[in-house]
Parts: sequence; structure tokens; C-alpha cells
Amino acid sequence: MTEHDALAHNYHPLPVTIARGEGVVLTDVEGKQYLDFLASYSAANFGHRHPAIMEALRAQLDRVTLTSRAFLHDQLEPFAEKLTRLAGKQMMLPMNTGAEAVETAIKVARKWGYLVKGVERDRATIVVAHGNFHGRTTTVISFSDDEHARADFGPYTPGFRTAPYGDADAVERAIDEHTVAVLIEPIQGEAGVLIPPEGYLRRVREITAKHGVLFIADEVQSGLARTGETFAVDHEGVVPDMYVLGKALGGGVLPVSAVVADRDVLGVIEPGQHGSTFGGNPLAAAVGSAVVELLEPGDFQRQAARLEPVLREGLEALTDRGVVDVRVRGLWAGIDIDPSLATGREVCERLAERGVLAKDTHGSSIRFSPPLVITEQQLAQGIDALSGVLGELSR
Ligand SMILES: *Cc1c(COP(=O)(O)O)cnc(C)c1O
Repeated sequence: MTEHDALAHNYHPLPVTIARGEGVVLTDVEGKQYLDFLASYSAANFGHRHPAIMEALRAQLDRVTLTSRAFLHDQLEPFAEKLTRLAGKQMMLPMNTGAEAVETAIKVARKWGYLVKGVERDRATIVVAHGNFHGRTTTVISFSDDEHARADFGPYTPGFRTAPYGDADAVERAIDEHTVAVLIEPIQGEAGVLIPPEGYLRRVREITAKHGVLFIADEVQSGLARTGETFAVDHEGVVPDMYVLGKALGGGVLPVSAVVADRDVLGVIEPGQHGSTFGGNPLAAAVGSAVVELLEPGDFQRQAARLEPVLREGLEALTDRGVVDVRVRGLWAGIDIDPSLATGREVCERLAERGVLAKDTHGSSIRFSPPLVITEQQLAQGIDALSGVLGELSR
């Protein structure tokens, strides 16, 4: 029994208790400072308490915070206009969490399939990828293949078919006459920052267009500047039919998510068919607008692209020290530690002792996703800490 026993055990946090955050730096209750190399799984892409986001938040706190969608408010349409312009789409539907936005995309795709494509009612299938992570709701875990995430939570929602990640031919084989959409992460985050082979996203775009099914890109973690582009699909010049956004859209302060698509897709939803008490609330919309304004000039995207080689070279230099694989796109990296040396967890615990916070994903994989406001020097400091930990472990 621990002092935390009032808290359900659905997480196993590192033994660090944060009290403050500013930019890239988190400070614990004892005053010890850490470099944040996780950025709340990319939800804090702009750093902790970014001044523009705090200003938008404070201004809105003094006006109105929650109206529900029963009434209009003056923040939502400007947010929708900005976000759709950023994505080059016509409509958005606001929700709160990433999982809710994924659920929204599934509902929209199914209804689009029945109404527009003419798929037989209640027979729709959606093709997903092995190793996917799209959230924790009962429907979303139904098409996860992570047994730990799904065992004992059945019965599962039917209507999903799985293809190996990175294999476009397998996606095509999984499409049948009932298929309404292909739902994939352009880079698999939770799986350990797995980057598909070059050309995969382009081929999935061609295949989905050829078969008349929607391409849904879950950019909840990969999107909004993390990879050096606004969206990870931009690296292959691909435009999906639907973007699923979350995490960084809330500016590190609130849950804000959305699906963004053209009118011929999102327009199938009519009043009463989908919604959320908090989705698109004034505070969330004000913060979401501030986030889009930060993204419009492209500086965060460029910063991530500029630091990519620093991160890659720093990590690749450790491949003779216990790092067995390095995957980098923008300011986002997944590494695998030689399992005979340590688990990802052990490395993260030792990194925390050295003042760097990162999180293992599966077994021996660790993900690095520092806030995009990180300096080259701070980035080097984090990599040095990792080098120190690996040295200590191999002694
Ligand atoms: C985090 C994540 C989600 C779920 O977001 P929540 O806000 O935790 O519900 C969905 N898809 C991807 C790709 C994610 O990384």
C-alpha cells in the first residue's frame, strides 16, 4: 500500500512529482529541475506555459469559459476557420480528447459509407494497422493488437480489419466491398516512433482513392509541427480525406481535439447525431486558435526540421553503447535499448536521476519528443545524459 492508493493503478509513473513547468524545464516539489524530453506525449509541443497560449487562456478566462453547443459563442467559428485553413479542408468538428476524435472519425466514415458510397447498412469495415494506437475507448481498443490494452475488456466492436504497418499491398488486400476507410498513424507513436517505408503513405493514398474509401490520418501525436512539417503526411506530399488532431491542439493546457475534412465527408453529420458537452468550448476554442496562430508562420515546423540532424546524429553516436535502433523524424525519436543491458524503464529512471524526463514505450523502446522550443544546447544535454546512463549501465 502506498500513499497513492486513492489513485487507480492505470499508470506506472516515474518517481518524479512535478510542481512547475516553464518552456522545456519541469521542476519537482523539491526544486530539482528536469529537461522535459516527453512534452506530455507531444501535447506540450510549444513548451510549458507558452506566453501566447497563456495570454489567450487568460483573456478567455475573463470573458466566458463554457456555454455548451446549445448556443453559439464567439470563439468557435474563428477557431474552425483557422484550423480548416491550416489543414486545407472545409470543415472541422471539435471534440476534447484524441480518442473521442478517433471515435468521431469512425462514425463519420461509417455514415459516409452508407450514405455516399452505398455500403450495405451495418456492414462497414475500416482497415487499420498492426501495432496501432488510437486511444483507450472500448471501440478503439477493439482494433488494437496490444493484448495488454485489450484483454478483459471485451466484447469488442466489430468492423475492423488489420494489415501489417508499412505494407500498402496488405492494405489493398484488406479492402473489401464493405470498406469505408483506412485509418492509420502516418508514424506510429506509441509503438515506438515507427516510420513506415518511404512511399507507403503515397501508396495508401492511391489505393484508397482507387477503391473509393476514405484515408483517415490519425495525426494526434505526429501532427502540428512535431515531425518538421505541419502534418506527418506532408513528408510524402499526401492529403488524407480526414485528419484526426488532438494533443498539441490544446497547447499543453486543455484537451482539444478535432476531425478536419471536406464538406462531402463531414457534412454527413446532422444535428443530434454526434457531439460533446465540452467539445469546442470557448476556452478550448481560444486556446486552439492560439495554437493555429503559432503554427501558421511555420517557425515550429522549421525548428523541428533544423534540430532533426542534431537529434539523429546524437542518438546514432550511441549505437555502439547499447542503442540498437534509432528512428528520427523531426524532433521525435524512438530508440531501442539492447535488452541485455536494461529495460526502457530502467534507462528512463536513470535519466530522471540525471535531470531528463523521457518515457519508455514497449519493453526496450524509449521515445523522445521534447518541446519544440528546445535549444540545441538543451538537446545535446539530454543526449549527453543518455550517454552517461548507457555508460553507467555497461560498467
Ligand atoms: C494519444 C493518441 C490518441 C488518444 O488521445 P487521447 O487524448 O489520449 O485520448 C489517439 N491517437 C494517437 C495517434 C495518439 O497518439
